[in-house]
Amino acid sequence: MNVEAVKKWMILFTEKVNQNKAYLSELDRAIGDGDHGMNMARGTTEVMAALEAKNPATVADVFKLTGMTLVSKVGGASGPLYGSAFISMAKEAGTTDSLLAILQAGLNGIEKRGQAVPGEKTMIDTWQPVIKALAAGNLSEQTIADAVAHTKEIKATKGRASYLGERSIGHLDPGAVSSGYLFETMLEAGVT
Ligand code: ADP
Ligand code: MG
Ligand code: MG
Repeated sequence: MNVEAVKKWMILFTEKVNQNKAYLSELDRAIGDGDHGMNMARGTTEVMAALEAKNPATVADVFKLTGMTLVSKVGGASGPLYGSAFISMAKEAGTTDSLLAILQAGLNGIEKRGQAVPGEKTMIDTWQPVIKALAAGNLSEQTIADAVAHTKEIKATKGRASYLGERSIGHLDPGAVSSGYLFETMLEAGVT
């Protein structure tokens, strides 16, 4: 895993989130409190500023700074969750170069922090199938799109959307959509 590709990944993710800020908040308005786009746009923009200011030299340091920035700058649930993912990824990147092991550590971080499992209509429902496909050697944009689309079919049992119960069915999960952007831009940046 190459540090320049990882920096490119963070830049592309920030751009994608900012381009789709209104859409992410619209999704969150339907089953949450309407701030997911704002939270993620603010968080990633702060990450860009931190990366520019500190110019970390290793993959582990890029992930660590990203995670710490998200935890400290994002108020919503997504800040600590994405933050835990990147901090766990940083720890793993200190001992391995394997993208699979690093993403798996990120997912473990999210699950530990949020006490959720696959199938509860959260960002985990993007992370888990993506990691499964990566392990099987067939991760593609289509896998990511399918994982995200599946969140529309299921009922939320974690996070704000769970207050809606059955009425959460029929709506995409905003965090699953932003995680879709994370993995699309990972492929685009050529992170392997
Ligand atoms: P908030 O709900 O505090 O306003 P955001 O709107 O920024 O925070 O983020 C909401 C997203 O966070 C949800 O769409 C979901 O993907 C994710 N999420 C919420 N709770 C959990 C959890 N316990 N585990 C994993 N992801 C979660
Ligand atoms: Mg919200
Ligand atoms: Mg909120």
